[in-house]
Amino acid sequence: MEGRIHSLETFAAGIDGPGCRYVVFLKGCNMRCRFCHNPDTWALEGGDTYTPEVLFERAYRYKNYWTRRDKVKGDVLNGGITVSGGEPLLQIEFVTEFFKLAKEKGIHTALDTSANPFTREEPFFSKFNELMKYTDLIMLDIKNIDPVGHKQLTGCENDNILDCARYMDELGKEMWIRHVLVSPDEARKDDLSFSDRDEQLNALADFVKTLKHVSKIEVLPYHTLGISKWENLGIPYALENIDPPTRERIDNANRILNEAMGRNIAEAADDRTAKGGSSDGRSC
Ligand code: SF4
Repeated sequence: MEGRIHSLETFAAGIDGPGCRYVVFLKGCNMRCRFCHNPDTWALEGGDTYTPEVLFERAYRYKNYWTRRDKVKGDVLNGGITVSGGEPLLQIEFVTEFFKLAKEKGIHTALDTSANPFTREEPFFSKFNELMKYTDLIMLDIKNIDPVGHKQLTGCENDNILDCARYMDELGKEMWIRHVLVSPDEARKDDLSFSDRDEQLNALADFVKTLKHVSKIEVLPYHTLGISKWENLGIPYALENIDPPTRERIDNANRILNEAMGRNIAEAADDRTAKGGSSDGRSC
């Protein structure tokens, strides 16, 4: 078995999970998010191929970065491996084998997913349950809670994505919810595809309140760093002239979403610092 890899990041601190992480970006995604900063991951073809064994051997060379020295407890494992994309669930068997090798060594595993392929139907559902045996943390991107806005923003439905969150909660799996914040300009203020609207943020907060195993919510401010990739691929950029959200709107989203977890902004900021997360982290 071989996986198709877009790129590897050997030392990611504070972005892709707790502690220092070795991050694997896989090829392939069926969504077409207007803000995607990695459109070069969309095609399943291309990239480099690795077997799970070779990839793990390569990752494991960096294991010393995954520990932190504690005066009382000695060396504490607080980092690990993250698989992102693209959409990693499109190569679910490969990720399962890769995570299995990590868990044999006691390494923390995190899956950064938009859950677009999720379904409770077979054969996917059994494969997903197998993957969950070796996954410690799911970082689930909810791009837009509004079904119409989600379809406009990504080209795909969100009902199965929300169902994935509910299922993870049933399993008692630790989840981080991530939300890319895109603010509309004046001309597009009624466009539901923009995720920075108070009614959508409140609806997302209400949804998160129904989940018991969300340990963190991250607001990921939209940025324009990926535009050149769209240009290089010859794809018209869908968010032309849209600026990153203001500090005020980022704080507003953090306040609404963290209050859903019974925390204020200061507690959320402390949590980000302690866990090595960042409100300025990337979207997949
Ligand atoms: S942002 Fe993530 S889910 Fe959306 S198109 Fe890009 S790779 Fe796919």
